[in-house]
Parts: sequence; structure tokens; C-alpha cells
Amino acid sequence: MSGADDLVLVINSGSSSIKYQLLDPESSFVAASGMVDRIGEKNAGIEHHIEGTTVERHVPLADHTAGLRLVFETFAETGHDLASQGVHAVGHRVVHGGEVFYRPTLIDDSVVEAISNLSSLAPLHNPANVAGIESARKLLPGVPQVAVFDTAFFHGLPDAAKTYAIDAKVAAAQGIRKYGFHGTSHEYVSGRVAQLLERDPADLNQIVFHLGNGASASAIRGGHPVDTTMGLTPLEGLVMGTRSGDLDPGIVPHLMRSAHLDIDQVDELLNRNSGLKGLSGVNDFRELQGLIDEGDAAAKLAYDVYIHRLRRYLGAYLIGLGGVDAITFTAGVGENSPQVRADALAELSRFGITVDPALNNAKDRAARHISVPGAEVAVLVVPTNEELAIARAAHEVVVAAAQL
Ligand code: ADP
Repeated sequence: MSGADDLVLVINSGSSSIKYQLLDPESSFVAASGMVDRIGEKNAGIEHHIEGTTVERHVPLADHTAGLRLVFETFAETGHDLASQGVHAVGHRVVHGGEVFYRPTLIDDSVVEAISNLSSLAPLHNPANVAGIESARKLLPGVPQVAVFDTAFFHGLPDAAKTYAIDAKVAAAQGIRKYGFHGTSHEYVSGRVAQLLERDPADLNQIVFHLGNGASASAIRGGHPVDTTMGLTPLEGLVMGTRSGDLDPGIVPHLMRSAHLDIDQVDELLNRNSGLKGLSGVNDFRELQGLIDEGDAAAKLAYDVYIHRLRRYLGAYLIGLGGVDAITFTAGVGENSPQVRADALAELSRFGITVDPALNNAKDRAARHISVPGAEVAVLVVPTNEELAIARAAHEVVVAAAQL
């Protein structure tokens, strides 16, 4: 294993979980990774992967500090004492940077306060991110910590793409605009596409589909996003595991009036009980495919709605960009479901888009082309690596700060 002082600890704190990776930002070598989950519950625990082995422990954890302490203890027990050997930097994934943060930012008290103040825009995410940051600062005093924002890549979206057509004064007062999310992934993947095509990013029009539990698409011109599906919150756009994506906003007052749901129940319905789960009962794509194979009509409808929405945005972005050089699939579903890729791009040869069935079905985990050789539009599968992108961003910020 490399010395810990070459390594960056990447932390992604959710409401009841902490995902982490210790990795070398230059070589991308992953020294260890894992996840603490069910924070706040009796059956909390950790799954820690190091040097080909997995360590599991179950202990009640009161809060994120207890969770991160367990991460540090587990590192120490497996021969890698983070606190005493020191790590070079900690990179935190932060979901919402609002209008304030549009680049990776060295964390101090005022940054923590500003991220906390953005919680009204991301009530499910930013408080958890702040808890992770505060815990890491307590447990690793003196190690520089950097916030990397999911919204940052989309900060410069054109006005026409980011503006909602509502009362402009209300929008301004409430910070209502399209922010976009999964930015670290869209930026990383579109950068990899330019490398793979051996083209200058400035010369490429791209569409990227990040299809995981959460899902989003982006249209990127010359390395800069010009549109994306997620909005003020990560609820807008594509159909997701448990989130509805786009719907008629009139559905919200209708539900409140007619079904007597309060605002928290509507929030819960749209974020946790909609999407594939709401339509079919399952949010995991493999389970959905299993149900479809058994002839389950609701699962088939859920799949059809999912593909219909993907193609709607594909069309919008093709036109919005005025033509496209590359279409790329990434994240759990995008990387692993040849069926989704084939159906999303079926019968588009008149637009220069033709997927090669053999390349598409190949069981290959590497970044690769799946379009027919010589096709006008390159179609690719590129594994995302948000942790590596966060580690690199944190490393760059720390190196730049040290040179000041
Ligand atoms: P997130 O990071 O948003 O939690 P991921 O990018 O890990 O999500 O993607 C999770 C999704 O990927 C799940 O719906 C899962 O079923 C799907 N997935 C993972 N492996 C496969 C596979 N081999 N075939 C189809 N879907 C898969």
C-alpha cells in the first residue's frame, strides 16, 4: 500500500450512511473503501474493504461522528491508522452548492455555515453532508478538507436553460433555478469521452446519461453543459428508482386538495415511492428485469415509461445541441444494462446513431465504444468514478492552497 500521505480520503455522507474511499488521486489506486450504514439505528454497522478482504462489524451508532469514528477504528485495526499517519486531504461530496459554490472549495467555518444555510434547497442532503464534514474536521484536525459540489459543473448553464417560467421575483427571492446534480459524474465522464475519442473537448457536442438509482442526462457543448434534466432539486427529469422525475406541477396541489396529503407526504410520495418503485413495486433495475421476464405487466409499463422519458430528453438534447458527436451511458444501469442502451437508441440510424449489438452485449467493464464502427455518432459506455474525481479535485485545491 502507498504511504498514507499520498492519499485522499473521500467521504460521501447521506442521511443515515457514510460511503468512503481512501485513494491515490494520481494513480487512482484505491487503498480501501467501505460504507457505514443505518446511523441512528441499533443495527448500524460497517463494511470495510481493504487489500482484497472485507471486514464487517455491527454496532449501534448514535450519529455521523460515531460512524466516522468507527471508520477510523476499522482502518487502525486493519493496519492503517489514518489519524496518526495522516492523510493528505479529505474530499467531501456536497450535494447542493446553490449560487454560492461553483468550484471545489477549501473548508473553513464560514464554508460549513454557508453549506448549512443552503439546507432549505436540499433538506435531504446538505445537513448530512455538514454532519460528515464536522465529524471529519473533529477527527482529523489539521488535515485540509475540501468540499466538492454536485451542482458545480452546471453553475454556468445558459439563462434560457436554467430559468423556470414562474414569477421572476418569487424565483429570485427563493433561489429557484435549475441547478443540476451528478455534476461530478457528468464532468468526469464527458472528459473521459474526449480522451477516448482523442478529441479536444472544445470540439465535441455530447449527451451523457447517468443512470443509477438517481438518474440524469446532460447536454454538453465544448466541455460546458448547456442543459441537464435535474433541477432545483434532484427530483426533476428522468424516471428514477424511487423518484418520479418530471410531472405536471398541477399534480401537487391536486393531491393536497383531493387526497388530503400534506406537503411532507407529497414530498415522500414523489421522492421515495414513485419512479420505478411507484409503478412496479421495485426500484432495483435487476429486480425490475426479473419481473418483466416473468410477464409482470406493471414492471413492463414502468420500463416503457423509463425508456420513453430517456428518449424524450435524447430528442430535446439532439436538437438543442444542433447535432451530437457522442452519446454516453454511465452509472449502475447505464453501465450494466445493454437492453436499456439498445432501447434508448433504437431506430435512430437516420440521425447517425446505430448501436452494434455484439459490442453492446459484450461483458466488458472497461470504457468502450458500442456504436457500429464508422458511425457518425459515437456511442460509449464509460464507468463513472465520482470518488476519483473528488479526490483529484481535493488534491488540486490543497496543492494550490499550499503554493499561495
Ligand atoms: P446510486 O449510486 O445512484 O445508488 P448506482 O449507480 O449504483 O446507483 O446504480 C444502481 C442501479 O444500477 C440499481 O437500479 C441496480 O439494479 C442497477 N444495476 C446494477 N447492476 C446491474 C446490472 N448488472 N444490470 C442491470 N442493472 C444493474
